[in-house]
Amino acid sequence: MQINFSGLRALVTGAGKGIGRDTVKALLDSGAKVVAVSRTKEDLVSLSRECPGLEPVCVDLGDWEATEHALGNIGPIDLLVNNAAVLLIEPFLEISKEAFDRSINVNLRSVIQVSQMVAKGMIARGVPGSIVNVSSMASQSTFSNLASYSSTKSAMDMLTKVMAQELGPHKIRVNTVNPTVVLTTMGKKVSSDPEFANALKKRTPLKKFAEVEDVVYSILFLLSDKSAMTNGSGILVDGGYQAS
Ligand code: NAP
Repeated sequence: MQINFSGLRALVTGAGKGIGRDTVKALLDSGAKVVAVSRTKEDLVSLSRECPGLEPVCVDLGDWEATEHALGNIGPIDLLVNNAAVLLIEPFLEISKEAFDRSINVNLRSVIQVSQMVAKGMIARGVPGSIVNVSSMASQSTFSNLASYSSTKSAMDMLTKVMAQELGPHKIRVNTVNPTVVLTTMGKKVSSDPEFANALKKRTPLKKFAEVEDVVYSILFLLSDKSAMTNGSGILVDGGYQAS
């Protein structure tokens, strides 16, 4: 199955590391022009060195005003990947206002803000578009100490459905990918307890975590016309965890 994004411009948030970084590279390999949005400047400098022609934007997406300033005039975007997120580990009884607000602002509010900007542009230009929200299997399964993170991802799943309903008539599709653990910076943090990691793999029918490329391929599929009738839906990239 060939996916060709020639002539299209994509925006990927959280592009500096992990899944976002490899999504940027895969989009470029498929012919898209790419705007790479992330927080740490060094990551964007090294990514730009690896990927000539990339358009880097350095901004903290948890800051509404800074995001408006950085992306308000970003120009035409056809494909959007809302991938940036933070995972702050706290037992439920110790959740702090700061950590909860940060989780909501980065993982959820920025998705609304960036998607509004991009979707308004698509509608004004009268072009179709595709948005992929990178959620998690933690949106649907419980994991101790991840109440804030999991709540943002559950809300993202519902946000995706409502966006699909409202934006569908404009030919803009919105879907999620919901991965299990991937050993990125975030994934290593969440699976650093060997007991937790082993129990998770044991319950997973495929007996392993996901690779970054497993997630990237699902994102590319949902962005592309190969999933033209898929809207308000999601792809579980969980090795069968939910089925077990
Ligand atoms: P990662 O390795 O931690 O990378 C996240 C990227 O997002 C980093 O470049 C980070 O930049 C950026 N980012 C975070 N907060 C930001 C902010 N406020 N403004 C701009 N950029 C920001 O994480 P990942 O594993 O690739 O995760 C990508 C997505 O997959 C997330 O939505 C995550 O929830 C989801 N996911 C991951 C796993 C997993 O096990 N890895 C499992 C399920 C779902 P800085 O480092 O500079 O902050």
